Amino acid sequence: MAPAPHTVLLAAPRSFCAGVERAIEIVEHALAQRGRPVYVRKQIVHNARVVADLERRGAVFVDELTHVPRGATVVFSAHGVSPAVRAEAGGRHLHVVDATCPLVTKVHAEARRFAGRGDTVLLIGHAGHEEVEGTLGEAPDDTILVENVEQARTVTVPERVSYLTQTTLSVDETARIVGVLRARFPKLAGPASDDICYATTNRQQALSTVAERSDLVLVIGSANSSNSVRLVELAERAGTPAHLIDDAGDIRPEWLDGVRTVGLTAGASAPPELVDEVVAALRPVRVLEHRTATEDIRFTLPSSVRS
Ligand code: SF4
Repeated sequence: MAPAPHTVLLAAPRSFCAGVERAIEIVEHALAQRGRPVYVRKQIVHNARVVADLERRGAVFVDELTHVPRGATVVFSAHGVSPAVRAEAGGRHLHVVDATCPLVTKVHAEARRFAGRGDTVLLIGHAGHEEVEGTLGEAPDDTILVENVEQARTVTVPERVSYLTQTTLSVDETARIVGVLRARFPKLAGPASDDICYATTNRQQALSTVAERSDLVLVIGSANSSNSVRLVELAERAGTPAHLIDDAGDIRPEWLDGVRTVGLTAGASAPPELVDEVVAALRPVRVLEHRTATEDIRFTLPSSVRS
């Protein structure tokens, strides 16, 4: 059995964001209204527990629309899709229920606006992430992906240039990349308000202090969850060893050797009950919480499932 830490220090906010709650509710409503199966393109949110739970209840997750029978209902995930995917769904006569997070939709609209006025759009984000693929698809010929500071230093663009970002990036790293771009392109235009969403920002801010006060940080989230991986990196940059865990079963006893305080957080796609399960498995003497913000954001459901 693993040695029990004295203290678990919970970062708050943690766990589900408004976009993830909405996406899960949309699948639940679609199942209740239309019966099983309801097809979902890609993972509805990047969390193994959420996906397994919805699968049990009748959701069928597919990677491509070609795996959805013609005329069936398909839900687009919280990460959004490109116009090409929407067109494909139309061509297959699918009933689309769109669970794209409204904050991702905002970035898509900005991409169309910037590209539409003749800008080259520098999209700061991670290649291959579903959200990035969707946003890139809004203006594929006018968008260049910038993944890091090195690429920001070398990217070449025509005169009119603007930038956008993936919603779940590291706030600090993104500020560095934008700083390099601004220095190189003084007329660089950007979004009116940050593309990195409130949930990503809040979880990073809360964990900064928690990481400084902890001997070990555990981040609950799946490996493909961008905002969860960024939390692990943040803790490591603060000098605290950190691990990403899907659930309590991933905790290795040797991680806890000599550890007095465990900092604990959960990415925006990780259900709150996983936090309770991890705390129960750690068996600390006390549980404290460090809260840096209160979140009361709710997004309305799309009209297609609201009835
Ligand atoms: Fe929306 Fe942010 Fe949640 Fe992603 S992490 S679903 S962008 S609120």
